[in-house]
Amino acid sequence: MNYKEVIEEVYKKVNTIEEKGELATYIPELARVDPNKFGVHISTISDVNFGLGDFDEKFSIQSISKVFSLCLAYKIMGENIWSRLGVEPSGTGFNSLIQLENDKGIPRNPFVNAGAIVISDILLSQLENPKEDLLSFIRGLSNNQEINYSATISNSEKSVGYRNIAMCNFIKSFGNIENEPDKVLDFYFDLCSLESSCEHLSELFLFLANNGKTRLDGKQILTKSQSKRINALMQTCGFYDESGEFAFKVGLAGKSGVGGGIIAILPNHYAISVWSPKLNEKGNSYKGMKFLEEFTTVSQQSIF
Ligand code: GLU
Repeated sequence: MNYKEVIEEVYKKVNTIEEKGELATYIPELARVDPNKFGVHISTISDVNFGLGDFDEKFSIQSISKVFSLCLAYKIMGENIWSRLGVEPSGTGFNSLIQLENDKGIPRNPFVNAGAIVISDILLSQLENPKEDLLSFIRGLSNNQEINYSATISNSEKSVGYRNIAMCNFIKSFGNIENEPDKVLDFYFDLCSLESSCEHLSELFLFLANNGKTRLDGKQILTKSQSKRINALMQTCGFYDESGEFAFKVGLAGKSGVGGGIIAILPNHYAISVWSPKLNEKGNSYKGMKFLEEFTTVSQQSIF
């Protein structure tokens, strides 16, 4: 498969479509991003690395980082983790509180905000220096040190984080948060503030295409079964209320963020990342979704 040619063809095509999305203005700093950015990068397990457009520029990865925190919590806790949250698609928006009341504070899955807040609580309880330990876990997934927190983004989100604050307190009222909500939220907002480029993101996520093992130094980050399960969760819950649509049209495991980034995995083949900041009405990158749909169509490769 000549991924370089496919990416060039699809990038050109998708770049010309009329873009209907909007920036994520609910986080003030995200409203300041240049809406015309468009980058893509692929890393394959056979060591093809190729990027186009703004692929080497850092952006706010937002909820894509929820995969990293989940992987670390899963590595530490094993299957016990699933007593704190579910593995079902929510069918609701990423920041919805509706199901929590009926579900008694057990979030539907780790990728809605409620689930990522519970994972943040688990990491706070388990790690000595949660912020530093998470960062070194992520950096250990590939040989680049580039990914980092952004104080500007986390402060910006903290200043308007009323819904996440409500959510954390609500879950605490059911007993599913162990630590003080302020501390959990602080860690959660820092997690969401991580910045990376398409190039480094596809390198960092390659272990999920490689049965849980890093390609460069063969470190087993997750067991084969855990890696399969993370991919299954990305496949079924990675795009909020548009996860079914992503499976239907793209057919990869993936995770989006409101910064306009998407990471997608074809197990045993590649990790591919796309960044285009304007979002569709479900909160996923408008062009990113189109790019990946076209990419799996032209390459004729997908999970299904
Ligand atoms: N920091 C964002 C929030 O909590 C993450 C949302 C996302 O990227 O889906 O609202």
